[in-house]
Amino acid sequence: MKKLIAGNWKMNGSLAANEKLLKDILAGLGQPACQVAVGVPAIYLAQCQALLAGTAIDLGSQDISAQEVGAYTGEISGAMLKEFGVRYAIVGHSERRQYHGETDELVALKAQRALGCGITPIVCVGETLAEREAGKTDEVVKRQLAAVIHTNGHCISEIVVAYEPVWAIGTGKTATPEMAQQVHALLRAQLKAASEHADRIQLLYGGSMNAANAASLLAQPDIDGGLIGGAALKPQDFLTIIAAAA
Ligand code: PEP
Repeated sequence: MKKLIAGNWKMNGSLAANEKLLKDILAGLGQPACQVAVGVPAIYLAQCQALLAGTAIDLGSQDISAQEVGAYTGEISGAMLKEFGVRYAIVGHSERRQYHGETDELVALKAQRALGCGITPIVCVGETLAEREAGKTDEVVKRQLAAVIHTNGHCISEIVVAYEPVWAIGTGKTATPEMAQQVHALLRAQLKAASEHADRIQLLYGGSMNAANAASLLAQPDIDGGLIGGAALKPQDFLTIIAAAA
């Protein structure tokens, strides 16, 4: 399967900065051997859709409403995202779980809504430092993924999963390739038990993946790509990670 390198810009950027970033990435991209996407702030979707039209980079959102339409102030629906060419929606990022109280059940519903709109959800799971230190990593990620499997049934084969240990996000601390592979193998086994097509589900690693450590992480048998925060804002670093995924 092709690997997927997806950037998560979080709440960064401006009209001018986005244009420069995307132009710099596109200038060095050529024909990538992997799939490439960027998850941009919703207000810049139209701008980025225009800048990415006809290129090898797919557009992503950082969230999606679990609701279809109606009185949900501040929410953005899957149908709206679709109108702006969105192919991927990040759901259940740890920052949304932490700062916006998103539960496993809500994340599962958001994944379901994305799939219903023809958008591929990138479902994030991952343990906090306290959970890892308490030996609960396996239990936590399995519980988070189980909710998504429970709600989405056989459609699970259409999702992307991102394992993002919370303690590694934006901290410069990365899981070792062996630590990441161990959790990825666990998630793969869980997906296999739920779907006969689990082999085609891309399992991304996220958490301070950068130009220096990407190759060793991406060499692991069950790491099928990366979800990249900080390094996705640096064109050369993002390009190096993309090259490492070839
Ligand atoms: C993320 O936000 O998904 C992420 C992995 O961030 P960073 O690469 O900066 O740790």
